Amino acid sequence: MLNLFALTCEEVAGEMSRRYGKGMYHAAALYREIFKKGSTSFAKTTEFSRSHSLAVQLAGDLWLPSCRIIATQEEEGVLKFASALADDRIIESVIIPANGRTTLCVSSQVGCRMGCRFCATGGMGYVRNLTVEEIVWQVHAARFKLNRRVDNIVFMGMGEPLDNLANVIRSVRVIGDQRGFDMAPSHITVSTAGHADGIRDLAALNIRKLRLAVSLNASNDELRTRLMPINRRYPLSRIKQELLAFPVEKCGVIFIEYVLLKGINDSRGDAIELARYLTGFPVRVNVIAFNPSGSNTYAAPGEENVRRFCGWLADEKLFVRLRRSRGQAIMAACGQLGSAALGGEEKL
Ligand code: SF4
Repeated sequence: MLNLFALTCEEVAGEMSRRYGKGMYHAAALYREIFKKGSTSFAKTTEFSRSHSLAVQLAGDLWLPSCRIIATQEEEGVLKFASALADDRIIESVIIPANGRTTLCVSSQVGCRMGCRFCATGGMGYVRNLTVEEIVWQVHAARFKLNRRVDNIVFMGMGEPLDNLANVIRSVRVIGDQRGFDMAPSHITVSTAGHADGIRDLAALNIRKLRLAVSLNASNDELRTRLMPINRRYPLSRIKQELLAFPVEKCGVIFIEYVLLKGINDSRGDAIELARYLTGFPVRVNVIAFNPSGSNTYAAPGEENVRRFCGWLADEKLFVRLRRSRGQAIMAACGQLGSAALGGEEKL
């Protein structure tokens, strides 16, 4: 079968040549129909209408993911959609419009083994990695099933993307193909809970302008291990070592995500400690107020606390941005995707 959603156009051309003695002319037409127009009627295109037998053969060989949207919920323009995969596992993705641009937050795993204490997905445990086609499908679904434009993609949905690095990177290449979605790496952000080996491996791939975000949430190991068990394996010193070596492009930055938890990581001391930790590499800190979900024991900080914390970081000369959390009522905000009911067992 020809698994189109997992191949770049160049690779499709290679398959066309191997299977049918054809090449880029037909590959580009097929790619354009599926990824630019969201249509499977490639047989009607000029390129294929003259080769009916090729179109028939290709239709028989073409394999498209059998994912389907099973639910959508919208609040304040934020649209969350749940998709059932071929094995009936469920993932969630979120479309977030802001300032005239639309960001799609995609999942990279069913569940997650990182077990961050403040995250609903972490409560599910790990089920499995998403395949390349399941990741790419989320973009296709947002574009053509939900008719939304997609300007940016963030790997901040369910799962730790660097725990599924090979599939995430291949999906970045497919999504970036100019003959298809044409989304440059500078519009794609891979977010990690601090998987230091993954950051090292990602750096080695040297994908120009691909953006990296690190969900830090604490600036000392004691607190961070309490909030994020992955910190036992990759303590802050190891993460910093990898961040210092990360090939940040000229004028580029590493995004630091900091979920603010009331009374836990929101003191002036936390802000000063965070600023000290971040000395030496170009960062932009995104502060996000915690979104309570289900049985979580943490509390949301008040708006005043959030502003004060951002002010303290700015006093320390950090470039800080307060990220407004939307979609809380539909559990589409940061850390709210998935639920224990979706299943999964393995945790770090
Ligand atoms: Fe996994 Fe991210 Fe949730 Fe942590 S915050 S448990 S890495 S999905």
